[in-house]
Amino acid sequence: MQERLQKVIAQAGIASRREAEKMILAGRVRVDGQVVTKLGTKVSSIEQVVVDDHPIERESHHTFLFYKPRGVISTVKDDKGRKTVADYFADLPYRLYPVGRLDYDTSGLLLMTNDGELANLLMHPRNEVNKVYVAKIKGILQPDEIKALKKGVKIGRYQTKPAQVKVLKTNPRAQTQIVQLTIHEGHYHQVKNMFKAVNHLVEKLSRERYAFLDLQGLTSGQYRELSHKEVDRLK
Ligand code: URA
Repeated sequence: MQERLQKVIAQAGIASRREAEKMILAGRVRVDGQVVTKLGTKVSSIEQVVVDDHPIERESHHTFLFYKPRGVISTVKDDKGRKTVADYFADLPYRLYPVGRLDYDTSGLLLMTNDGELANLLMHPRNEVNKVYVAKIKGILQPDEIKALKKGVKIGRYQTKPAQVKVLKTNPRAQTQIVQLTIHEGHYHQVKNMFKAVNHLVEKLSRERYAFLDLQGLTSGQYRELSHKEVDRLK
């Protein structure tokens, strides 16, 4: 299959298509040793594409939906020798990366992919992917706190975007609550920090949905590959 050069570069995850076009125009891209500056040049899978002397990996794309367990780190390597999400995919011949992060103590839905363009697209704030979390919190949310979470709270200088909040269960004896929170953003510790902003501690957190995807059919530590149709729907 022949593909446009800028698409091949973008799919390797090193630049957006726009940036790839600039790289081509600037003479930074070679195809089988020849500098190519014409936009829209098509290349086949057997031709070698090199950007700034770095050959581009052109493996076929695979995206997996992974049910991340608690106690696993969302990176490919860990200096402290902790279990990583990549360990679960060690038998597969693909170099997969997590799309965003879940905290070490958070479980739930995490996409793993070797499609750099898809990962960049999904992580771009403009894309507003819906993420549904379920948190067990300490204390009982008061109406004004629910209102604040819905409207947006301050995390440092950052104001969170409008969110959906649904109390799923209240345990008055233990003074805990199970709360579903739907957000579009993905800042570091965002859910924990949102509850912290209204003075509640998150005891347990899991991500139940990501866009239209959920964890149905999987148990903790399991994964399944997304179909082409599902990947297209994410784009
Ligand atoms: N928000 C958090 O606080 N932690 C996560 O792992 C994900 C979202």
